[in-house]
Amino acid sequence: MAIIVQKFGGTSLADAGKIRRAAERVIKTVKSGFSVVVVASARGQQTDELIADALELNPNPPEREMDQLLSTGEQQSVSLFAMALDAAGYDAISFTGGQIQLVTDSVHTKARIKSIGAERIQKQLDEGKIVLVAGFQGIDENGNITTLGRGGSDTTAVALAAALGAKECEIYTDVDGIHTTDPRIFKDAVKMKQVSYDEMLEMASLGAGVMHPRAVEFGKKYGVKIHVRSSIEEKDGTIITHEVPQMEGVVVTGATVQKDMAKIDLVNVDNKPGNAAKIFASLATAKVIVGDIMQTEVSSEKANLSFLIGISDLNAAKNAIEQIKSEINCESIFIRDNIAEISVIGMGMRTHYGVAGKMFGALAKAEVNIDSITTSEIRISCVVNKNQAEKALQAVSVAFELDKPAEKRSRDS
Ligand code: ADP
Ligand code: ASP
Ligand code: MG
Repeated sequence: MAIIVQKFGGTSLADAGKIRRAAERVIKTVKSGFSVVVVASARGQQTDELIADALELNPNPPEREMDQLLSTGEQQSVSLFAMALDAAGYDAISFTGGQIQLVTDSVHTKARIKSIGAERIQKQLDEGKIVLVAGFQGIDENGNITTLGRGGSDTTAVALAAALGAKECEIYTDVDGIHTTDPRIFKDAVKMKQVSYDEMLEMASLGAGVMHPRAVEFGKKYGVKIHVRSSIEEKDGTIITHEVPQMEGVVVTGATVQKDMAKIDLVNVDNKPGNAAKIFASLATAKVIVGDIMQTEVSSEKANLSFLIGISDLNAAKNAIEQIKSEINCESIFIRDNIAEISVIGMGMRTHYGVAGKMFGALAKAEVNIDSITTSEIRISCVVNKNQAEKALQAVSVAFELDKPAEKRSRDS
């Protein structure tokens, strides 16, 4: 029997009524002839609440213990979900990540999946059961519980869909699909029928919280059809898929804002071979994930090097830099923790000119100052003051007509 993986996000499971509604959705899919694997997130704001509990006791909690704690949220969801299915007369069984041998590396709070033992799930499906798997968590080779990073249940779902050869991975959430930008910030953003893995990967990595970036990576690598859709309304959402020809006509597909960021500037570093390597090796040892990197030569002897990181990695990054500061002969370190990054993304940028000018023009008109700029083949990003982030996203969204479906925009948008 063909398998469908259905993932329900926290807001879609916030109370008993919502769990029942999600269970009905699963039952409907079972009735139409599919085997269903459910992946569930922690209910409502539970992950945030558990983090607050931890911080009240310890401002710098051990990461292993954070994973041990946070994984309980998802464990509660799947067992409650299984109980709701049982009450409706359906055979269901729930598992933690460890119980299905979802093995990760040992990088607590941002672990990466190494392998999944799909056999246990398959056996239960073959017995006619609905299988529920706690999202966001795994187990390392030493038996420690790990988590995959905030929003990581999406990745559990897509990885399971790949491991089980599922027909589709449905992501049920509190919006009706992927929009041109975050509809909570730009209310006129429009839902897209489809978006390519590459564009979605950029959007997710640059702040579109609707999908966990690693989930999109898995989807692309294993060709999993991902359908992001509403857990409230029964209508089609957005399909994340390989690039299709009609996508080429659109210059800018979407815009994003990434808020919880910091920028570190290393001023007047010795301009000699090996220094950049030393800096990033030290950051990698500290397990800091680095975003955009900018380096400029200021003289034949000196260079300035800047990079973006998530705010949660700031302390680790500061320590890593302190350790090699004298080795690279860095004159001073300048840190900004009040920034946000605004990006526009689109495959069409590969073949169109004028996108950068239009973006900078929109920001200028909105009186938003640009701190730094980075580009790739399919995106342009500007670092701005955090308190201007929403205004900046709105200005850029209007400029690129992200309030209209792609076919109704003027040709250069
Ligand atoms: P879940 O709990 O279901 O995983 P998330 O909060 O992680 O839900 O993701 C859904 C949220 O993502 C939406 O409520 C929306 O505010 C946000 N979001 C950000 N960018 C986008 C976008 N481009 N399209 C749709 N939603 C987006
Ligand atoms: N519960 C986790 C979080 O809030 C994982 C998820 O929702 O995907 O980040
Ligand atoms: Mg999410």
